[in-house]
Amino acid sequence: MAGEVPLSDTLRFDLPDPAATSRLAARIAGSARRGDVIALAGDLGSGKTTFARAFIAALAAFPGAEGSEEEVPSPTFTLVQTYARRDLEVWHFDLYRLERAEEAYELGLEEAFTEGVSLIEWPERLGRLLPADHLEVRLDFAQQPDARRAVLTGHGDWPARLSALAGAAA
Ligand code: ADP
Ligand code: MG
Repeated sequence: MAGEVPLSDTLRFDLPDPAATSRLAARIAGSARRGDVIALAGDLGSGKTTFARAFIAALAAFPGAEGSEEEVPSPTFTLVQTYARRDLEVWHFDLYRLERAEEAYELGLEEAFTEGVSLIEWPERLGRLLPADHLEVRLDFAQQPDARRAVLTGHGDWPARLSALAGAAA
């Protein structure tokens, strides 16, 4: 509706080392459900792939998961890789090399958004194909070489879920 501000909410985290980034990813993975779209924003080397790998590894660690011993490779050269985890299919996109947003349809974008859990590096490549209902995880460099800062911005259903995540923060 014209003039209406979309619901959104923000959480910030200091991530002093890669393990902290992995713990944040695991915490979010713990609440993952079918249809979730998580946009991983940030420059090259900010930790997007580190976050995605930890998210996928954390799902493998939950009871009933398959493939818990499986290596989690990077999708850099394939644009997308899928992982069967619990009752979820995780789609890890790296869209750095995507030239036009529409090319993402050929990667199974619609199926990912409706049936899977989507982790998307370089989400800005999707333009308006990125669903309105998504969690943005922005990773930024900090002063120490091994430190990062995360800003989580929830859109659609996510603000309520972010409150729960904030409450679970340790
Ligand atoms: P991206 O996918 O955003 O390009 P990667 O996850 O591939 O980034 O690489 C991030 C690099 O930065 C890795 O070598 C990782 O070990 C390092 N790093 C250092 N500190 C952190 C941190 N706090 N969180 C995540 N990665 C970090
Ligand atoms: Mg990456």
